[in-house]
Amino acid sequence: MISRAVEMTIKLDRLLPDRSARVLGAMSEVPRDVFVDPGWKRMAYTDRSLPIGHGQTISKPATVFRMLSALEPVFGGKLLETGSGSGYLASVASRLFNRVFCVERVLGLVESSRANLLRTGAGNVVVRYGDGSSGWAEHAPFDGILYSAGAPELPASLADQLREGGLAGVPVGTKSSQEFIVWKKVKGVLEKVSSFTCSFVPLIGKEGWNG
Ligand code: SAH
Repeated sequence: MISRAVEMTIKLDRLLPDRSARVLGAMSEVPRDVFVDPGWKRMAYTDRSLPIGHGQTISKPATVFRMLSALEPVFGGKLLETGSGSGYLASVASRLFNRVFCVERVLGLVESSRANLLRTGAGNVVVRYGDGSSGWAEHAPFDGILYSAGAPELPASLADQLREGGLAGVPVGTKSSQEFIVWKKVKGVLEKVSSFTCSFVPLIGKEGWNG
């Protein structure tokens, strides 16, 4: 019998056929029900964002698929995720990147995500508690940077922490609706590569909202 995670990736493949087969493979290995609130486990393999506690949500599988697919050219390198929440995206990313560095501002989620990551065999991920709106300078430069919370504008620290040739994706817009913009660092300057419409929870912090 095929697992529910595999079933989910078969549907995603039909929905977004131009995306990365490697991301689909990684998503098929990660049981998403581990990452959602107990009352929502039945819905874990539908294409919905779901509660993970503390007023936060896990992103839709299609969004995780698109975010990670956009970074395929830098797989194998070092990834930074700001707003790692439940740890689901980080667990999928751990199968695609050599090392994954996460920052999360809700302590309860830092603790539960560490447990979720261990349960799903993601040993190459570290989660730091704090405001990640300015990235994580100590571990820079990164080959890939993903923001999983929506910013009012592109965080200024990002360009410095991205390696030359690296790719970064950030949702930029209002508190309720954003464009997920993918950038590439070329000769020290960020160039826009692609974008899609999305709706993330707000990035709260120094380079986010209420900073
Ligand atoms: N990729 C995550 C999605 C989590 S939702 C997952 O797979 O579950 C976005 C997260 O961003 C929330 O947990 C929220 O607490 C966090 N967040 C918001 N602002 C932040 C900031 N400045 N630094 C770190 N995390 C932040």
